[in-house]
Amino acid sequence: MSAILEVRGLEASYGDRTVLRGLDFEVAEGGVTALLGANGAGKTTTLRAICGTVRRRGEIRFAGKRIERMPTESIVRLGIAQVPEGRGTFATLTTEENLHLGAMTRPNGRDISLDIERCYSIFPRLKERRSQQAGTLSGGEQQMLAIARALMLRPKLMLLDEPSFGLAPMITKHIFEILAEVKRESGVSMLIVEQNASLALRFADQAYLIETGSIVMSGEAKIIREDEGVRASYLGY
Ligand code: ATP
Repeated sequence: MSAILEVRGLEASYGDRTVLRGLDFEVAEGGVTALLGANGAGKTTTLRAICGTVRRRGEIRFAGKRIERMPTESIVRLGIAQVPEGRGTFATLTTEENLHLGAMTRPNGRDISLDIERCYSIFPRLKERRSQQAGTLSGGEQQMLAIARALMLRPKLMLLDEPSFGLAPMITKHIFEILAEVKRESGVSMLIVEQNASLALRFADQAYLIETGSIVMSGEAKIIREDEGVRASYLGY
């Protein structure tokens, strides 16, 4: 399968502090790649480097185009949507206003209401809450809204930062079922960062393990799941 995202020698830094030290990884077209690692390993920074919100060096190729020198807005327009850490919804705007904002970078506004209806059919809960301020939604509903807002871009690639963060196991399970359905129906590719390694390794096709800014292991998720070291350090069994 061809890669929609190819990253070579990715470095990133905050001020004079280097956080990523030459990462190589890929996301297959229509596939899910997981980035795993302990707190502070550099997972969020990797997502920021792809969409250009942190200083980076190296090669980032998206759908065949080099994007490492592009501003974030152009990267988003090419079809990379973020579901950021902490969800990033606009607290004082309603659910529906947040969805409209998600479509803002799209070239034409014609099908926006159609896409909002599509989001509501994926997330009926958001339809019930369409006029509610996003800041007053539950954690799970805010995560749904963050995913739905990203879908409004009709992305080719979604960057998901810890979708399970702060959610009860039942809600997390529901969110991942929906992500699997979205992937099946739209064929969108996904790069996912997750603290919950066990969950991520069940959802992903490929996985990369990051330690202090370097990739220390990579391969098919189902093979990494069986690795003794990964089990002991990340899966707890
Ligand atoms: P977590 O699972 O805790 O979110 P992570 O693997 O996503 O961890 P990053 O958030 O990418 O890790 O952080 C990598 C390193 O970069 C950490 O040491 C962190 O302190 C540092 N860092 C992150 N953001 C900034 C920032 N804005 N300014 C300075 N240093 C930062």
